[in-house]
Amino acid sequence: MSFENTREFALKLDKEDPLKEFRSRFHIPQKANGKEQIYFAGNSLGLQPKTVRAYVEQELKDWETMGVEGHMRAQNPWLPYHEFLTGQTSRLVGAMPEEVVNMNSLTVNLHLMMVSFYRPSPQRHKILIEANAFPSDHYAVQSQLRYHGYDPAEALLEIKPREGEVFIRTEDIEDYLKKHGSEIALVMFAGVNYYTGQAFEFERITKAAHNEGCRVGFDLAHAAGNLELKLHDWDIDFAVWCSYKYLNGGPGAIAGAFVHKKHLLDMNIPKFWGWWGQDKVTRFLMHHNFQPIPTVESWQLSNPPILQLAALRASLDIFDEAGMKALRAKSEQLTGYTEFLISEKSDGNIEIITPADKNQRGCQLSLRAKQNGKAIHKKLNDSGVICDWREPDVIRVAPAPLYNSYMDVFEFVNVLFGENRPARF
Ligand SMILES: *Cc1c(COP(=O)(O)O)cnc(C)c1O
Repeated sequence: MSFENTREFALKLDKEDPLKEFRSRFHIPQKANGKEQIYFAGNSLGLQPKTVRAYVEQELKDWETMGVEGHMRAQNPWLPYHEFLTGQTSRLVGAMPEEVVNMNSLTVNLHLMMVSFYRPSPQRHKILIEANAFPSDHYAVQSQLRYHGYDPAEALLEIKPREGEVFIRTEDIEDYLKKHGSEIALVMFAGVNYYTGQAFEFERITKAAHNEGCRVGFDLAHAAGNLELKLHDWDIDFAVWCSYKYLNGGPGAIAGAFVHKKHLLDMNIPKFWGWWGQDKVTRFLMHHNFQPIPTVESWQLSNPPILQLAALRASLDIFDEAGMKALRAKSEQLTGYTEFLISEKSDGNIEIITPADKNQRGCQLSLRAKQNGKAIHKKLNDSGVICDWREPDVIRVAPAPLYNSYMDVFEFVNVLFGENRPARF
C-alpha cells in the first residue's frame, strides 16, 4: 500500500481498519486535560481490557461466598482454572494445547526451563545469547552457568552486530553456530530484542542450532502478542514470555511457557517438581510418588494465582477473538505507516534503528536521536504521547494493533518533529 502524509489519509485508514472496534474494549489513560493519551508503551505495560474487572470480580465473589469450596464449585472452578486459558494461549503462540501453560513469572520460567534444557557437559557447556540482551536474561544465564560450575567470562557467548551496524544478521548467527556450535549447549535468544526492536528469524536460528546439536530457547517477552508465532512448527525446544507487555495481563501478570511436544514424555529431561505438576487424578491422594502430568503442566510447581489468571484470561479472550493473523496484518501496516511518516518528515536528527524488513521486526520502532533525545522524549510525554526512553539515546514507540489507531501515529509524528498536538476529535 502507498501511504500519504495527511490527516485525511490517517482518518481513512482508521475508518477502513477491520479491527477498529477493539480500541473501545480498553481503558485508554487520559491526560489531566481529559484528552486521551497516545499510548505507545504496550511493550512495557499493556492497557487494561474493560472486561478484566468482571473476570476478576467473579472470582472475588466466589471466594467471598464459597471459601475453599470454590476450588470445585466456583463458576469457573479454581482447581482446573489454568486450563481455561490453554486453548487461547496455544493459538496465540502457534503451539499444541499440551505444549503451553501459564505459570509463575518470566524470569522464574526461564530458570525452570534452563534446569531442563541447559544440560552442560565439559565439551559442550556454553550458552549463546544475543548482544545487548535484557539484563534479567543475562543474569539468569550467568547464574545458571555459575550454578553448574562454569565461569561466564569463558562460557557465556554473545553474538554482536557487525562493526557499524545495529542489528545482528541472521547469516552471521548461522556462521557463528557452524564454527562454535559443538561447544554450545544452549542457544537462548529474545524473540524481539527489547532495545533495537529486531525480531529474530526463529526458524533459521533454530535449524542452525539443531544442526550443531544445541538446544534452543526463546524469551518471547516482546514477541508474544506482537508477532505471529509458530513455536511448534519451528521446532523450538522451549519458550517463555511475560504477559504484562503486549498481552495486557496487568502489572506483574502471570507468565507463559512452552515446551515442544517431543520433550513432554522424555523422562530423562530433569525438572524441578511440585505438586501442581503431579498427575491430576492422584494429586490429592497425597502420596510421595511423583507422576508427572504428560503435558507442559508437569513444570508447574504451585497452585496458581487465580486472580491473575482471571485478568489474563480476559485479555487472551480478546486476542483470540481478534486473531494473531489479523492483528499482525494491521500491525505491519500501522508500524509501516509510522516509519513512512517519520521518513517523510525527517530532519536528519531522528534515525530508526529497527530493521526495515517487516519480517525482522514487530510493532516497535526504536528511534535514535542524534541530538536532544531527552528533550524530544520529554516533549512527547508532555504532549500525552506515552513512550519510553532507553539510555543512552533511544526512544521506543510501540503502536499496538489492538488499541492504537492511525491517527495516534499521525499525531505522534507531528509532535516528534516539533508541532503541538491539536485537540483530539
Ligand atoms: C520484560 C522482560 C523481562 C522481565 O522479566 P520479569 O521476570 O517478567 O520481571 C525479562 N526479559 C525480557 C527480554 C524482557 O523484555
